[in-house]
Amino acid sequence: MNTAENESYNPKKGAMISIKDSIKKTILSFFKEALEKKIFDAVLIPVKVPAGDSYTWILIEDVSLFKDAAPIEPVMPVQGANALSSLTRKGKGNLKIAAIMRPCEIRAAIELAKLEQVHLENVFLFSFDCPGALPLSDYVQNPKKGEELFESFFTENKWNEKSTKPICRMCDNFSIPNCDLHFGILGTEKDNFLLIPNSIKGEGVLNEMGIAFKNDLSEWKKKVNEIKKEKEKIKKETYHNIQPMVKGLDNLVQTFAKCIGCHNCMSVCPICYCRQCYFDSEVSKFTSDNYLLRAEKRGAIRFPTDIILFQSGRMSHMSLSCVSCGMCEDVCPASIPVAQIFSYVADKTQKAFEYQPGRNIGEPLPLKEYKEEELQELKKLVNDSVSQE
Ligand code: SF4
Ligand code: SF4
Repeated sequence: MNTAENESYNPKKGAMISIKDSIKKTILSFFKEALEKKIFDAVLIPVKVPAGDSYTWILIEDVSLFKDAAPIEPVMPVQGANALSSLTRKGKGNLKIAAIMRPCEIRAAIELAKLEQVHLENVFLFSFDCPGALPLSDYVQNPKKGEELFESFFTENKWNEKSTKPICRMCDNFSIPNCDLHFGILGTEKDNFLLIPNSIKGEGVLNEMGIAFKNDLSEWKKKVNEIKKEKEKIKKETYHNIQPMVKGLDNLVQTFAKCIGCHNCMSVCPICYCRQCYFDSEVSKFTSDNYLLRAEKRGAIRFPTDIILFQSGRMSHMSLSCVSCGMCEDVCPASIPVAQIFSYVADKTQKAFEYQPGRNIGEPLPLKEYKEEELQELKKLVNDSVSQE
């Protein structure tokens, strides 16, 4: 059973691990040892591409291939939940896989597991205190500088860096999601970090590896809470700034006026779960006569068409499960703060349903359980929360 299935699991102790060379190398040593001891058959991990200017997800079975692996990579070119979905979409498979991902990637994987687009039975989820990721556009301009900057987050203990993605700056869910094992970097001495079991499955891994977990977690928890409070403040300010951009149809139209309809935001979103997307289908394409008729009615018609329909359709589909990972914003060529907008809307919907994506795999998706009479109640809740701002 992993924590995703066992909400009541509350980690009390962790194993103190000595850092050898760097956090990255120490985490890689752990995975190498676990592969050698056959605790896992393979590790799903980000690996630097040969040109050295990006990362991709690789399923590694051979320990000699860990050379360019980066358990905590500076950018997120592909959401980990999407990689895990490609790997397990057709079922659990026979291999025992360790996957190391950011907390937002794990939350997305849990949401996809509820939709049977990820199967977690034979997967061991590892996470870490996440300092955020760099915007992809900044990183690709100078990958070497990006690597150095990201490394300094750990060596100089920077946990609220302005150079990270705006969505990361306001992420108050950067530590201990529903993973099986968590690398707790905060609040420990310079030369150590904690490996914290967060499920019975995670405890089993440590027992098999012969790693005792007796160390106190209070300093780590204290530091996590301290940073969480700072992040909550930034989140409040961000939502306050985003609110006028989406309040009412006129503002929404203005905000998305520069959208070029590339659908990048949809392609990278782990939560865009439809197997057949209306916007990519032939049903969404019309004849010239039809467009002319629409132009006649309104006086004019813009191309690409249906920008607001696309954005509002996407919002209605995934605002309950949006994990605020920022992928959509990272790839928007029009520099629209898509993730901040979606996160703002999602926050309202999720609060209305008292739902937190990725909290617990046993917690059903509200829209699967939705009852018609709840509509009025929901409308009131959303209106109240908007008018309170
Ligand atoms: S809408 Fe954007 S922020 Fe939300 S889950 Fe999708 S990609 Fe991530
Ligand atoms: S990525 Fe940006 S420009 Fe492309 S469809 Fe999404 S919001 Fe529009």
